[in-house]
Amino acid sequence: MSDCLFCNIVDGEIPGDIVYDSDSVLAFNDISPEAPHHVLIIPKKHIPTLNDVSNSDRDVVGELHLVAKKIAAERGISGSGYRTVFNCNSDAGQAVFHIHLHLLGGRKMSWPPG
Ligand code: AMP
Ligand code: ZN
Repeated sequence: MSDCLFCNIVDGEIPGDIVYDSDSVLAFNDISPEAPHHVLIIPKKHIPTLNDVSNSDRDVVGELHLVAKKIAAERGISGSGYRTVFNCNSDAGQAVFHIHLHLLGGRKMSWPPG
């Protein structure tokens, strides 16, 4: 999708601060971090929202979480804790319509989220 920001990062058309790259998944630091560690983990395949995930995407959606766990371990925040979030559509504040798992950590977070 040429008009999708995250597809453009996957294709190298727009630079990303990439921290993980596999055949099916890319992870990069968020450009506007909300925590000391804020990484976005995305499928390379364009999927607009979590509502659009299908059975055939189950492996890649699982991989997103395994990558979050791996990055958290590498950054030494597995024990202190971290949060993973998918925002879906407007009530959740989704701004980029290519699914991305937020990995946030390195500070105390409150619950429920605002
Ligand atoms: P969401 O509100 O869940 O759609 O989150 C979109 C996220 O993308 C926000 O946290 C933005 O800071 C982040 N973002 C937007 N543009 C870029 C970019 N070029 N590189 C990295 N992160 C970005
Ligand atoms: Zn896309």
